[in-house]
Amino acid sequence: MKENQNRRIAVFGATGSIGTQTLDVINQLGGFDITVLTAGSKWQSLAELALKWKPRCVAIGDPSKKNELKNAIFGSGIKVYAGKDADAHVAESEEYDLCLNGLVGVAGLMPSYHALSRGIDLALANKESLVLAGDLLNSIAKKTNSKILPVDSEHSAILQCLQGEQKSEVRRLILTASGGPFRKWPLEKIRNATKEAALNHPTWSMGPKITIDSATLMNKGLEIIEAYHLFKIPIEKIDVRIHPVSVVHSMVEFVDGSFKAQLGVPDMRIPIEHALFFPTHREMKLRDDDPADWPPLEFSKVEDGRYPCLDLAYKALSIGGTATAVLNGADEAAVAGFLNGRLKFGEISETIEKTLDTHNVAEADNIEEIKSADSWGRDYTETLISELR
Ligand code: NDP
Ligand code: MG
Repeated sequence: MKENQNRRIAVFGATGSIGTQTLDVINQLGGFDITVLTAGSKWQSLAELALKWKPRCVAIGDPSKKNELKNAIFGSGIKVYAGKDADAHVAESEEYDLCLNGLVGVAGLMPSYHALSRGIDLALANKESLVLAGDLLNSIAKKTNSKILPVDSEHSAILQCLQGEQKSEVRRLILTASGGPFRKWPLEKIRNATKEAALNHPTWSMGPKITIDSATLMNKGLEIIEAYHLFKIPIEKIDVRIHPVSVVHSMVEFVDGSFKAQLGVPDMRIPIEHALFFPTHREMKLRDDDPADWPPLEFSKVEDGRYPCLDLAYKALSIGGTATAVLNGADEAAVAGFLNGRLKFGEISETIEKTLDTHNVAEADNIEEIKSADSWGRDYTETLISELR
């Protein structure tokens, strides 16, 4: 590619929280031609984006929205794909130089898989890809010489802290966690917490699945698994500290007792920009910011018994094989169950735990095995939910 030529980017999950912020960054900074935009079901939003950005194609997960989407962009010359496998098909066959994966859940797995298999760099927000298939995706990336660039703020922070450092000199990675909305609630009250309370995240504005995962701290659990695969650091060297104001995005402690941290106001456009333009930082106008205005930076240890989902993620990672794929499927089903009123908040971890304990672990060395472990986890959890109510 010639210097100063735009790179072609495919934005998966363009209508979501990460997707729209990615488009905002590209709007400000340029540097990319958008060739692919995708959504799950919001066809009007996708149509608007398509008419603005003029990609070569769009994909919509819900096949019943295909005609509406087609009509809305009629005459634009933009190809339309629809259906459950549309994202995977587009990732495998369309032209792009960078994949921004802002899909939520297992829907993000195949775009990650195809991008890396084709030797295309992956700017990854969809942490579930690595939870499901971290070893496999790493081995593909190694074979095709492609990079996985984290969008998740904690991992972007760690990546920056590790620049120029030796991994052998790392004592531990410390992921920071806001602690979610129930950080100070009496334990017995958390079990019956409402959906509205759980969706009220103290510092970040995100999609519903990750917001519930942040309230249970499963999100931090998934991020431990993500960090393990991204940085190839043993599980016992990955720690979590509660840091309610989300200014320190994560840190690395070195063997001599020196700590490096990455700081900034909580705004996902910063880690998105860094993943898009890695290893450079580009000038962005977000807001005037001064450390003098930041709130005090407090840290505490994770309180025993408050966040059982975090323990489950550590457990699944130490079991290995298909256990983390089962954890993912179980978590998605349990979160959906909670959001549609069929599970109590406290039952999220209980159903995931039962599912994980029932699973017969296998090797996670091919994509079909991984997908079927995820489906098994999802189905088993759904059965447990139906038995409850
Ligand atoms: P959102 O729910 O806001 O957006 C998800 C996107 O994926 C939407 O474009 C949605 O389409 C699309 N989508 C959902 N389900 C499907 C499906 N089955 N098939 C095809 N497309 C689908 O999620 P977020 O942006 O919050 O999160 C995306 C990922 O980024 C998650 O993995 C999350 O953990 C991670 N992340 C998010 C952060 C954030 O600040 N939001 C921070 C760090 C990580 P539609 O709009 O039509 O429903
Ligand atoms: Mg994060």
